[in-house]
Amino acid sequence: MIRAHIEIQGIVQGVGFRPFIHKLVKEYGLRGYIKNTSSGVELELEGREQEIRAFAADIPEKAPKLALIEKIETGFSGELENFKDFKILESKTEQFRNTLISPDIGICDDCLRELRDKKDRRYKYPFINCTNCGPRFTIIKDIPYDRAKTSMSDFPMCKNCSMEYHDIENRRYHAQPDCCGECGPKVFFTDGEGNELPEEPIETARQYLKSGKIVAIKGLGGMHLACACDDEKTAMELRHRKQRDEKPFAVMCRDIECVKKLCYVSADEEKILTGFRKPIVLLRKREKGFSYVSENNYMGVMLPYTPLHCLLFGDDIDMLIMTSANLSDTPIMYKNDEALEKLHGIADGFLLNNREIQTRCDDSLCWVRNGGEYFARRSRGYVPFPVKVAECREQILACGAEQKASFCLSKGDYAFPSQHIGDLKNMETLENYQQQIEHFKRLFDIEPVCIACDLHPDYMSTVYAEEKSRELQVPLVKVQHHHAHMCSCMADNNLNESVIGLIWDGTGYGTDGTVWGGECLIGDYDGFDRFGSIREIPLPGGDKAAKEIYRTAISILRQSSCPYNDYKNSAVIDSMLTANFNCPKSSGMGRLFDGAAAILGIKSETSYEGQGAVLLEAAAGDEEGAYTVEFYGAEPVRFDWRPMIGQMVKEKESGTEIGIISARFMNTLIKMGTEMCKMAREKTGINSVVLSGGSFQNMYIMNRLPEALKNEGFQVYCHRRVSCNDEGISLGQLMAAQKAIIK
Ligand code: ZN
Ligand code: ZN
Ligand code: FE
Repeated sequence: MIRAHIEIQGIVQGVGFRPFIHKLVKEYGLRGYIKNTSSGVELELEGREQEIRAFAADIPEKAPKLALIEKIETGFSGELENFKDFKILESKTEQFRNTLISPDIGICDDCLRELRDKKDRRYKYPFINCTNCGPRFTIIKDIPYDRAKTSMSDFPMCKNCSMEYHDIENRRYHAQPDCCGECGPKVFFTDGEGNELPEEPIETARQYLKSGKIVAIKGLGGMHLACACDDEKTAMELRHRKQRDEKPFAVMCRDIECVKKLCYVSADEEKILTGFRKPIVLLRKREKGFSYVSENNYMGVMLPYTPLHCLLFGDDIDMLIMTSANLSDTPIMYKNDEALEKLHGIADGFLLNNREIQTRCDDSLCWVRNGGEYFARRSRGYVPFPVKVAECREQILACGAEQKASFCLSKGDYAFPSQHIGDLKNMETLENYQQQIEHFKRLFDIEPVCIACDLHPDYMSTVYAEEKSRELQVPLVKVQHHHAHMCSCMADNNLNESVIGLIWDGTGYGTDGTVWGGECLIGDYDGFDRFGSIREIPLPGGDKAAKEIYRTAISILRQSSCPYNDYKNSAVIDSMLTANFNCPKSSGMGRLFDGAAAILGIKSETSYEGQGAVLLEAAAGDEEGAYTVEFYGAEPVRFDWRPMIGQMVKEKESGTEIGIISARFMNTLIKMGTEMCKMAREKTGINSVVLSGGSFQNMYIMNRLPEALKNEGFQVYCHRRVSCNDEGISLGQLMAAQKAIIK
C-alpha cells in the first residue's frame, strides 16, 4: 500500500470529470477522495503503486470528451490514512465553482443506439440525452447549473429517470436534461397556418420534406428552415421566399457516406465532422454541381447532431438544406410563436417542441486546417467554453466589432468568447448582444474592471462600450481594429512577444481616421507601428462601393491608366473621382479583391459580404505565375497594385483564361505579403508572423502564404481557436486592454 497525491490541471470541472474519476477509481480498487481546486482537481489515493500508476495513465486516455487535461502530476508518500472508501468532496472556495458551462453536444453513440433500439424505453424519443451529450448552454437560464435553472424545470423527472440521475454508476448520473417520453418535452407539427396536425409529427415532417415542401425545424440553438437538397426547384423556392438570392446554404447529410458522395473529405475533415461538436465544415465539392446550394467550390456540410435530426433523416433521406431561420440580419429565431408568425408564408410546416431555447446559438462554421478547426464562426458546440490565454488576470469585457459582432469576457487565464451574434446595426441583434453580455457576466460571475472596444466611433459596440464604461465607472480602452486582429491571433497562439502582423481584411478604422485593411503591423499587445499597407483606393460612393463593386473597379482602373468606359455609370463615377466627391479612400485588401473580381467580369454587384473575393477564389485555376510587385513610400511602405492591374487587364484583353488571371492575382498578393514581411524583418529582426483578418478566409491564400513565409524562414502563426474575421477581434481587444490597465 502506498499513498499518492495526484494533481490534474486543465478544464476538468463541469464536464462530468468527478463521476468519471469515481468510476475509474472503483475499477482499480483505490480509496481516498477527490476535490476541486482553482486550477483543476486534486486526488488523495491509497492503493498499490502499480495500480495507481496505471490509473493515472488511464486518465487522459479515458477522460470525458469535454475535459481538457493540461498536466497530471503524481507524487507518492509513505504515510497512510487508511481511507475506507472513495469520496467526492464538495469545497466552497472553488474559484470556478459552477463556472465552466458545457457547450451543447451532439448525440453520442450510446444514446443513438438506444434511440434505435425497439426494446429501449427511449426508442425513437427525440430528446434522448445523457451525461456525455445533449443540450447545455442553450437551455441554461441561470447558475448554479442544475435542472431547476434550465428549460427542463418545466419537466419534472419521472421515477425511472430520477433513479438514473442519482446513480453514480449510471451513464445519466447528474445529467441535468435527462428525460424520457413519459416525463420530457414533446414534438408537435403544425401546418403553414399554425394548426397542429394529429398525425405523428416527425413522420409528417419527413413526408413534407420528401414532397418538396419547406419545413421550419426547432433545433438546439434556434430554428432552421429545411428542404430537400437534391431538388433545385425547391431550393430556389426557399431562396425566393427567404429573399436570399445567392448566399450559400448549409447542408445536413444523414451520415458521413452521404457527405462523401457530395464532397471530398480528408481524414482530418471526417474527424471534425463526426466529432461531438458537429460544426458545419466547409468541404470542397466533388463536381461543379449544386450551384443552387453553393455558388463557389465549397459546400458547408454538417451531420445530424440532435436525436430529432437523426429521426428526421430515417434511412431514406440523404441530405437536406438546413439554413438558419432569420430574416435579413435579424438574429436566428428561437421561439415557437415568433417562428409561426414571422415564417408564415415561408415555411409550409413547422416541426416544433415545447422545450424552450433560452439562448440563441447558431451553428458553427469552419474549414479544417492542420487537423483542427479554422473558424469562420465559432458558436454552437464550442461556446461558452473558454479559450485559455496566458498573461491575463483581470476581469475585462471586450465589445468586439460590429458586423460580425461578438464579445469576450475574461477571468483568470480564461477568456470566454461569445457565440455568433450578427450585425449590430440591426436593433434586434443589438438587443440580443446586450442581453448576452449580461447573461455571460452572470453565468461566469464576472464584473469587468475595464471595457475594451474598437476605435471606430460609429460602431454600435463602441457606443455600447462608452455607455457601459460610464455607467460602471470603469476605464475604457479603445483598440485599433487591425491591432486587435493581431493581438487576437497572438492570444490564439499564446504568444507574448513582438511580432509582424499581416492583417488583411475589408475595413477597419485607422488611427488617422482613414479606412485601413491591407496592413503589415509590427508590435505586441502594448502597441504597434504601421509598417506597411497597400496603395489607397478611392471608393466612389463610399459604402455603396462595397455592394456595387464595379465602382471600385472603375476607381482602380482609372488609377492604373486602364480603360473603363464600358462600365456602368462610368461617366458619373469618373466625374466623382475627378472632383474627389464622396470618394473616401481605403487601403482594404477586401476592396482590392472587389475591384479585381469586377475587372475580371466575375461579379459586378454583390448580394452578400465578401462575395467578390469568394467567387474570385472559386474561379482560380492551377497556376504558379504572378505579376509585378512594386512598393513605394515608407511608414507605411505601400504596395503599388497599379502595375499588377495593368498586367491583368492586358492578359484579359489578349484572351488569357480568367482562372489563370485570378490565380496570378492572388499569387501576386502572396508574393507581396512575403516581401513585406521580409522588409519588416530586415528593419526589426522579428521573425514571427501572425496572419489575421477576414481576407484569410481565402483558402487559396491560406494554402500558400504560410508555406511561402516558412520558406523564407519565418515562424508563422494562424488562428486555431477563434475566427480570423471580425468575430475574433474581441479576444484581441481584451488582451490589449489587459496590458493597458496593468501599466
Ligand atoms: Zn448520450
Ligand atoms: Zn422520464
Ligand atoms: Fe476586420
